[in-house]
Amino acid sequence: MDFFFDPVFLEHDTGQHPESPKRLESILEYLEDTAGTKKPENGEKYLPIAHTREYIERVKETCKRGGILDWDTPVSRDSYKAACLAVGAAVDASEHKGFALVRPPGHHAFADHGGGFCIFNNMAIASLRLAERGRRVFILDIDVHHGNGTEELVLNKAGVRFLSIHQSPLYPGTGLENRGSNIINIPLPPGTGDREYIDVLETRVRREMEEFEPDIVGISAGFDTYYDDRGYVSGNEFNLTTATYKKLREILEPYDTFYTLEGGYNPVGIREGIKALTGI
Ligand SMILES: [Zn+2]
Repeated sequence: MDFFFDPVFLEHDTGQHPESPKRLESILEYLEDTAGTKKPENGEKYLPIAHTREYIERVKETCKRGGILDWDTPVSRDSYKAACLAVGAAVDASEHKGFALVRPPGHHAFADHGGGFCIFNNMAIASLRLAERGRRVFILDIDVHHGNGTEELVLNKAGVRFLSIHQSPLYPGTGLENRGSNIINIPLPPGTGDREYIDVLETRVRREMEEFEPDIVGISAGFDTYYDDRGYVSGNEFNLTTATYKKLREILEPYDTFYTLEGGYNPVGIREGIKALTGI
């Protein structure tokens, strides 16, 4: 599997913040000794697939000065470049069945605003681009937080189905019900562990994917569901081990897949999660 990574992802400086470059250190060390990484393309040209021109300009200008895009989404001088390359990495991953090992994450980003540490919506852009080319894309969002930005961007879009499994109650507070013709939300309570989560994967997730018959499955891979991610950000209380990520790999076996990194704040959880999910 190709891992798309650019060193500029480490230059997106968020200060004292859980979404920091440290998150990627452990998996990068592991990849150095194993699969290696590939440089992604610059995804700036893809931004209008999901974002308004006004918002793109606002991000660019805010990054020049440094500051905050949203109360919990700080940006620095290199953040615009990092965010554009993160989009490029997601598009490359979607073309090569790869993994976009990116910062910033994307699933809380909307057409005209960012939030929740996200600037541009990497997964929505890659998926909508594939759908425009006539491919059927099933997005599976396994971050502990609801992928509210992705949901809004793909709502009622032909050729795309979105399924999010997330903790409720928790930020951003949405994702309590299905919406439109293509949005499936599965909120689960704090304390959810392997047994309950695997049951959902083996029944509802498997069934929804079989029914949709996707050409490709895009996984918004957040590892803040990991049992040892607790305490890095507030309120995430799932207790998943690598057993769940391995089971998901088994369920995804029949499909072409691509991955974009979303949350997960314990560097060990990210490394072990990626290993279990992708089999590297
Ligand atoms: Zn998250």
